[in-house]
Amino acid sequence: MKSRTKVVVIGGGIAGCSTLYHLTQEGWSDVVLVERDELTSGTTWHSAAQVTNFGMTQTMVGLKSHSIALYKKLRDDPDYPVGYHHGDGGIRLANTEAQMQGYRHFASMARGMGVEYEVIDAEECARRHPLISTKNLLGGLWDGEDGDIDPAQLCQALAFHARKAGAEVYRNTPVTGLTQHKDDTWTVHTQHGDIDCDVVVNAGGYRVNEVGAMMGVQHPVASMEHQYFITDDIPAIAKAGHRMPLLRCPISDYYSRQEKGGLLVGFYEQDCKTWGMDGISPGFSNDLCPDDLDRVMDVLEGAFERMPVLAEVGIKRIVNGPITYTIDGAALVGPIPGKRNAYCIIGLRAGLGEGGGHGWLLAQQIVHGEACYDTWVIDPRRFTGHATVELTARKAIEDYQNEFRFHFPHEHRPAGRNAKTTPLTPVLAAEGAEFTVVNGWERVDYIKPSPDFHPSLSFNFDEAFHVVAAEVQNVATNVGLTEVNGFNRIEITGADRHAFLDRMICGTVTARAGRVGLGYLLNHQGCIKSEATVANLPASDRGPERVWYGSAAASEYHDIDWLTVHLEPGEDVQLRSLTNDQTILVLAGPKARAVLSDCARGDWTAEAFSWLSVRECCIGFAPATVMGISFSGELAYEIHVPNASLYAAYLVLREAGEAHGLKLFGARAVDSMRMEKGFLHWKADLITEFDPFETGLSRFIKLDKGEFTGRTALLKRQEIGPGRKLATLRIEAQHAPVHPGASLMRGDNVVGTITSGDYGHRVGMNLGYAFIAPELARTGAAMELDLCGERVGAKIIEPSPYDPDFERMRS
Ligand SMILES: Cc1cc2nc3c(=O)[nH]c(=O)nc-3n(C[C@H](O)[C@H](O)[C@H](O)COP(=O)(O)OP(=O)(O)OC[C@H]3O[C@@H](n4cnc5c(N)ncnc54)[C@H](O)[C@@H]3O)c2cc1C
Repeated sequence: MKSRTKVVVIGGGIAGCSTLYHLTQEGWSDVVLVERDELTSGTTWHSAAQVTNFGMTQTMVGLKSHSIALYKKLRDDPDYPVGYHHGDGGIRLANTEAQMQGYRHFASMARGMGVEYEVIDAEECARRHPLISTKNLLGGLWDGEDGDIDPAQLCQALAFHARKAGAEVYRNTPVTGLTQHKDDTWTVHTQHGDIDCDVVVNAGGYRVNEVGAMMGVQHPVASMEHQYFITDDIPAIAKAGHRMPLLRCPISDYYSRQEKGGLLVGFYEQDCKTWGMDGISPGFSNDLCPDDLDRVMDVLEGAFERMPVLAEVGIKRIVNGPITYTIDGAALVGPIPGKRNAYCIIGLRAGLGEGGGHGWLLAQQIVHGEACYDTWVIDPRRFTGHATVELTARKAIEDYQNEFRFHFPHEHRPAGRNAKTTPLTPVLAAEGAEFTVVNGWERVDYIKPSPDFHPSLSFNFDEAFHVVAAEVQNVATNVGLTEVNGFNRIEITGADRHAFLDRMICGTVTARAGRVGLGYLLNHQGCIKSEATVANLPASDRGPERVWYGSAAASEYHDIDWLTVHLEPGEDVQLRSLTNDQTILVLAGPKARAVLSDCARGDWTAEAFSWLSVRECCIGFAPATVMGISFSGELAYEIHVPNASLYAAYLVLREAGEAHGLKLFGARAVDSMRMEKGFLHWKADLITEFDPFETGLSRFIKLDKGEFTGRTALLKRQEIGPGRKLATLRIEAQHAPVHPGASLMRGDNVVGTITSGDYGHRVGMNLGYAFIAPELARTGAAMELDLCGERVGAKIIEPSPYDPDFERMRS
């Protein structure tokens, strides 16, 4: 066994084997995989091993396409062929028009990744899958690439090729401890000795938290028991003359695929069970949970109705094994928050379909610092302090019970709610607030017109459309108040704070006390890593001169890691998170100044406190820090208040607002208004696949200011020219917003991809942002949008159609 290597991957299931293989593909051959038992002795060996190409985001589709391409290559490799039934096809069934519309959107989205799904009717489903009945069926989504693979052969082949490239695999070698050294390298302690390394990767499957505990981390991953059975041979299959496609049923939560001459049918029952919550026996290896078919009777019935032939065949074998889940069902692949040189590839619930792609994207991150796609949807840092294993278990149960029921736009399911709240949450709920969830925070979405107001789940504009319109109207004519909780706030102190930020940000951001600036942080590829407001607070009785760095709520762990890792030795900079201590109340609208003046001492005129100013004050008696910042395009103030004083400040603002027509508004109104202003959202419009030139942020770049993170790469990208350009579009449809991922077309060619969309109530336009082929990215260019299967006109307009000279927010 080596005593030193570059990377140690812990775990030899599909996650670990794929990572090891892809590290060698990215050029790192001095890498090692350590497995406590034999390869695939965790979950992988007994997997149903279906490999599908379906994903709800382009990153998921892209990584699954990579799995399929890789598995085909391995299948055709004469040295070590893998059993892979590629191209049996698969159908996701639907019995509601809303589901069918969702499938049409996913087809539009996947087209941008070069993947063609088909949305077919019930008769066509039955033609392609001769065992199913069309009763209570509208149709389905056809994915021609679907198939299944031999999971053990796949892992052995990945290990074989990795070994051939120089990697080593140590079987029957349990990892017993991890030690991190001052220089951020690691020692991996195993039963057979220690291995020093630069980087560790946790690929421990359902033992993820045993490995996590070795580095003092609890990963938000929980396991569920999951069962399938295999039937005896079915004569109708032999007669069909082709292999049966895969089937996924959101009506009754089961799946099936062909297994030899019969079917494999797997179940997601309502009466489901977590597994291993109180610890896992060390001897549970190559093992299964006891069969319990009684538990799945509810969904079994649905499967029998859809495939009546199941009632006539015997069951050959039952498999019940643990499967890992996360809070949102997607895996955790990337850097472990708060740690250096430590990565994970865990929480895989469809590890065979996704594992090839996950290992690929992880290896790229380890070797190059970033992957070819923006990987936020699988980034471990997307969950923060609320993400306990207990919360994960509740979400896992909910997810399991809804396995094939995708989330609709604006849908937030009930499990694990109220994970993060402020003292105002119950107050706003009593005011009729409907909440959306942002990084666990309950944030006001809009104020319901009546307690029983429940808009339908749909890809069209829902019944809240007019409610949001009225909130926007009041903000535009009077004044609105909303709470923006969870906004990521880092206090930066120390003499070198400005030099540090100047190095991290690609433009020049003001260092003047009392002023606020906006800046963009780039990665080492010259693309967008983060967006931050930098507020320079003067010295006061509340502290010395300091910077408040503000960024998106979801970026809490992401940004602090990125900033921390770039601190230089000896630099006098201290970072302290205030995210959980301070909450923003946003006061927006032409009468915002009047309300503020009524509750806080001092001169708030435009001359004394202009746009992009910051000042400490009291709202009534509650300490507050006010910034002249607007995301709505109206005159607006962000009022930052410590949570302990939040209710007091809120009461004062509400009372003062009464004379000025103040009403509450929510995140949906904000989203509508920001679309009218050309303002961008992190991880929707601001992603690591594009640089600030492509994203239309040239005015925030200062190439001649000296070195900054990402500058060299940005200069190179500038030479090559843009791959895509962000543009604002007017969409000629009144019934539905555009959804992220949707494809913009010219004839049969995809010429762009939507990143955000919403109706602009003040300008009366349905708006979208999209990254567009550069030759088309000019005002007036016309194209078509595939809006849930319907071709509608789309035209590029100038950004910020509402108040393009920004006079209202500066007033
Ligand atoms: C019944 C069932 C059906 C499924 N069907 C499908 C399907 O059709 N399609 C699909 O894509 N997915 C399916 N899955 C899910 C899929 O099988 C898993 O997502 C995948 O196998 C997980 O792989 P992994 O590498 O993350 O974990 P594992 O396979 O569990 O691998 C983890 C490895 O880490 C090792 N390990 C743990 N601790 C240590 C330690 N301290 N030291 C060294 N090694 C350690 C373990 O021994 C194990 O080998 C199914 C799962 C189940 C249970």
